[in-house]
Amino acid sequence: MKLIRFGEAGRERPGIQLQDGTRVDASGFSADYDETFFGGDGLQRLRGWCEREAARAPRVPPETRLGPPLCRPSKIICIGVNYRDHAADSGAEIPKEPIIFFKATSSIVGPDDPLVIPRNSRKVDWEVELAVVIGARAKYVTREQAPRHLAGYMLHNDYSEREFQLERGGQWVKGKSADTFAPLGPFLATADEIPNPGALGMWLTVNGETRQKSSTGKMIFGVAELVSYVSQFMTLLPGDVISTGTPSGVALGMKPTPIYLKAGDVVALGIDHLGEQRQQAVASD
Ligand code: ZN
Repeated sequence: MKLIRFGEAGRERPGIQLQDGTRVDASGFSADYDETFFGGDGLQRLRGWCEREAARAPRVPPETRLGPPLCRPSKIICIGVNYRDHAADSGAEIPKEPIIFFKATSSIVGPDDPLVIPRNSRKVDWEVELAVVIGARAKYVTREQAPRHLAGYMLHNDYSEREFQLERGGQWVKGKSADTFAPLGPFLATADEIPNPGALGMWLTVNGETRQKSSTGKMIFGVAELVSYVSQFMTLLPGDVISTGTPSGVALGMKPTPIYLKAGDVVALGIDHLGEQRQQAVASD
């Protein structure tokens, strides 16, 4: 099942994308895709609703804006340097344990919303990533138990301001959290749709030129391991997002000189079975 949310920013309504790509309005289902929905039997009930009602539910017009496919979660945890090739191009060592950092949940936007270049920014960079959504509360779970705690997967562009992140002191969160820095979607694919999250092709282009082309098979720490690992340090709540890191090909690694994003640039990206996104960069007001 593919969950979508559609409509004006901040007032999105829940929907479903059917296998043939048709988008169905699920506001008749009554619940939005939030912590209560994922933590209870929401997905199961939605599946039932879908079987009974999808054929006659209102269609979402194709030109309608898509929002993030879930309500703002309690946290976004990102994994740093989780691809061998990215470690090499950012000059980092292969980590012995996963590197984790936070991204403000206020940075979440829809998959095709504009990217706003923050004030006083010169180094906005892209990162195509597989994002994992937690289904059941996870605390001290083992790697073997981890799959039972997953709701599904989404495409994520973990936008990063490298100067804020690396040259302004303190934690990476500073360069990861600007508004519009976390486009999610176009849909949340439930876990049953992605039997092997460790073998998905992924790509990203800037103004039509390929910058990233890789596979989740190149991750250092896999999905189950990451869920288990993070749950040793904090409780993962239903709807929480873990973004699993990016492969090589970010601006930061460009030789001799990185070419960061500027207003007018168009970034497109995708992951197998998780759809595509497109953002156009605009200057902050
Ligand atoms: Zn990242």
